[in-house]
Amino acid sequence: MAYASVYPLLSARAVARPFTYEVPDGVGRGAVVAVPFGRSTARGLVVGLEDAPPLGVKAAPVGRVLDEVPPPLVDLALWVADYYGSTPARALELVAPRLRARRGERKRVTARLAGEPPPAQLTPEQDAALGRVVAAVDAGGGRFLLYGATGSGKTEVYLQACAAALERGLGAIVLVPEIALTPQALGRFQARFGDRIAVLHSGLTEAERRDERERIATGEARVVVGARSAVFAPVRGLGLIVVDEEHDASYKQESDPRYDARTVAAKRASIEGAVAVFGSATPRPESWAALDRLELGGRLIRRLPPVRVVDLRREGGYPLSAPLLAELGKLAERGGKAILLLNRRGLAPAIHCRTCGVTRRCPNCDVALVLHASGLRCHHCGHAEPAPELCPECGSAELARIGAGTQRLERELEARVPELARIRLDADTKDPEEALQRFAAADRAVLFGTQMVAKGHHFEGVALAAVVDADTGMALPDFRAEERTFQLLTQLAGRSGRDAPGRVVIQTFQPDARAVELAARHDVERFLAGELERREALGYPPFRHLVRVVVTGPEPEAPMRALAELKAALGGDELLGPAPLLRLRGRHRAQLVAKTERPGALAARAAKALVAAAPAMRRAGLAVVVDVDPQSV
Ligand SMILES: [Zn+2]
Ligand SMILES: [Zn+2]
Repeated sequence: MAYASVYPLLSARAVARPFTYEVPDGVGRGAVVAVPFGRSTARGLVVGLEDAPPLGVKAAPVGRVLDEVPPPLVDLALWVADYYGSTPARALELVAPRLRARRGERKRVTARLAGEPPPAQLTPEQDAALGRVVAAVDAGGGRFLLYGATGSGKTEVYLQACAAALERGLGAIVLVPEIALTPQALGRFQARFGDRIAVLHSGLTEAERRDERERIATGEARVVVGARSAVFAPVRGLGLIVVDEEHDASYKQESDPRYDARTVAAKRASIEGAVAVFGSATPRPESWAALDRLELGGRLIRRLPPVRVVDLRREGGYPLSAPLLAELGKLAERGGKAILLLNRRGLAPAIHCRTCGVTRRCPNCDVALVLHASGLRCHHCGHAEPAPELCPECGSAELARIGAGTQRLERELEARVPELARIRLDADTKDPEEALQRFAAADRAVLFGTQMVAKGHHFEGVALAAVVDADTGMALPDFRAEERTFQLLTQLAGRSGRDAPGRVVIQTFQPDARAVELAARHDVERFLAGELERREALGYPPFRHLVRVVVTGPEPEAPMRALAELKAALGGDELLGPAPLLRLRGRHRAQLVAKTERPGALAARAAKALVAAAPAMRRAGLAVVVDVDPQSV
């Protein structure tokens, strides 16, 4: 008879340890089994075998074997639990997700998208990059940054690297930020690999997800394309992990376990002796500093488009300045498409009383209410109220709308260039895929909206890309504010003129800001050099890791007090704060930020101190989140 240590997959922190069970022969590490637990049955994951149960313990037998995950994924999940300060059960759930049993026959529906055939010949840069990746696959590991402007041919390198892995009997995972917004990339993979592709993303039903997992587990599908969580796909014999658009913030999971799929991809590659390739036109400073660089250089088809910076301090007409209107007018006259980025939804980001000076705020959150056509709305908690005719504070009719959002831009476009079809893409858009298809089919149109318009889709005939307000992101009090702005401007500029002579317009009140100036010149390397210098001086990533602890509660004082006590208990590392944050959803919040070389150790010490403080915190109605490598602070 054999014994095994099994983690019951229960999320309570109190059962965060393995238990010994009796297992039949042949059940090993990675098996998902039904186990008796307390008075009921739980799913459990076998993490190791034992010769005998611990002294004085009578081990119960496990029930059915429900599923099996590749053993390296067990190591990966336990590492995730440790590094991100979560529990083993919660992390193991990522590699062995609970899916309902099958009912009835399985039928597979895959929309087959068109993809271009492989090129007759790679460029010398593509060829060199591919050679390095394939050599590393043969050598049993490596980590690369594939760096090249939009349109420089990164996807073809991914495709051929995946093909090389398949030839060697190995599997591959390709992570992309959001599948719904990048159907072209998926189409190219489907055209090249056909039925050997599995696709995992959040839009699948549970039955579809289970089918795809089965095809991966049985080895029918050897290439997995998917969003963040596909990094845990049960591919056996992994040879390659690609992280496309590696700068994209959606790779970070914002609920427990708060993992970063890019960090997990690198870890999984090192556990399995696979190669990790991170691709971007605007890499993160972290990747630029740490990875072996493979450079694809400029764009394949044409040179990058010239960028015109419009100084809004001198040009009136916001949100459509005269130079931008002139460009749009040309399209209205001669045909062509434009993409306009305005990273704010609604009609106006705030309304403000000119008489008493009060800005209308959310009653639950310390943020201004955003004016929509339907009334005032809070973008954090969803609070809605009718837009007032008169100031609720002083009764004045002098209410001013501050700034512009996407709905206001839509009205301006309708009034100024009615010849162009208007297609909005933001979080209020019901069917983004349909909007993108409409834009692809149009011949005189403007696609406008929030950062969703700057993602990796490719459309023919885009002659103009414009940023309506480059200042939106730079005002945020966050160490990544400049990086994000630079990435967004550069990515958007790359959307123009991929097959036509393109123009790019950036409107800003700060034309001299580093992010604007360098994005206008497509000078990624100078931007990254400056950013790394600044981060080194301030002790930000990649020079140190950040760990963020946020406490929320019903009263303003208690979160600050709890964090001051935590700070005293932790000592040592460089701790910033506690500092109060904006109130959200009626909860007062405060944060403590640590800059440290050993984030896992610090998160573990914080978790321990928080367990000791838990009863008192519960009584005060406090909740706490520990976030390792947060994307913003
Ligand atoms: Zn007033
Ligand atoms: Zn709110």
